[in-house]
Amino acid sequence: MLLSLEEATVRLGGRPVLDTVDLGVAEHEVVCVLGPSGSGKSTLLRSVAGLQPLDGGRVLLDGRDQAGVPAHRRGVGLMFQDHQLFPQRDVGGNVAFGLRMHGMPKGERELQVRELLELVGLPGAARRAVAGLSGGEQQRVALARALAPRPRLLMLDEPLGQLDRSLRERLVVELRELFSRLGTTVLAVTHDQGEAFALADRVVVMRDGRIAQSGTPLEVWRRPADAFVARFLGFENVVPASVTGVAADTPWGKLPVPEGSPQGAVELLVRPAGVRLVAAGEGLACRVTARTFKGTHVALRLQPRDGGPHLEAACPLREAPETGDATGVEFDAAETVVLG
Ligand code: ADP
Ligand code: MG
Repeated sequence: MLLSLEEATVRLGGRPVLDTVDLGVAEHEVVCVLGPSGSGKSTLLRSVAGLQPLDGGRVLLDGRDQAGVPAHRRGVGLMFQDHQLFPQRDVGGNVAFGLRMHGMPKGERELQVRELLELVGLPGAARRAVAGLSGGEQQRVALARALAPRPRLLMLDEPLGQLDRSLRERLVVELRELFSRLGTTVLAVTHDQGEAFALADRVVVMRDGRIAQSGTPLEVWRRPADAFVARFLGFENVVPASVTGVAADTPWGKLPVPEGSPQGAVELLVRPAGVRLVAAGEGLACRVTARTFKGTHVALRLQPRDGGPHLEAACPLREAPETGDATGVEFDAAETVVLG
């Protein structure tokens, strides 16, 4: 592992902000830590960078304990959440900042800056003023600045956080492509699931300073570890249930669950795709209380007639009922996950 955290613990204001975190990042791997605001993501990056001392545990880079190693000797790059550029320097001056700190001669520096700006899609921008750049351009300059000293580990704190949605979606694809081309090892943190899933080889979900789940984007998406992770990923159909064999007793009645599911008192997730609309009078009687056009499908909110929490369903445009319509609902075991 290029980076290992072993039971890393940080206390701030009398409580653990990082709580015995074990985490490894292999060379060339892109790991994204995903968690709500306040879950300890920035603190995690700051302790790896050497900007936040640990109260317990260890940070190892290439197997070497970093206790006592100052930030500038760790060989890691950190792009901060607010990625403040130096407003009085031009684009080139910003990108060259770390290179100057490392004492690189001017000619070599200028060559590198030119290459880096091409790399991040801003060719020839070296003499431009920072103030005249768009949000997306500033983000690219911040990225070039972080990449310039060729850190063995690049850390990004909410790299696309302040950009609008369409720009974010485009940049995240570019970043992924860039990292795979350069073979960069990356530890990024974000509160945005879409960003994490698009960027990462592996996603680590954090809650209150602890790791709630770690896995490939597909693994985490398919099998959230618990109700917290499921809800954080945006799934709403999460209810307490009692499982016996391949059936679950739930507030929505008896539902089928996959073979081999955990038994007994559990929490149960039904993905929207597993909520199948059938004729009114069949299955669970519901009424459509909201209907949102999503481009490729319609998201429905359904209220069961006889009580129980509302249901979130996804349905093709052509078949979508109107708000106020009565409908029946059946459940697909294949889209149902019994949470651990
Ligand atoms: P995230 O980046 O996931 O939003 P942070 O790592 O910034 O989370 O913060 C985690 C928690 O630590 C938050 O609840 C925050 O209020 C608290 N915290 C951060 N810095 C300090 C500090 N200097 N003193 C006390 N609490 C702090
Ligand atoms: Mg943060």
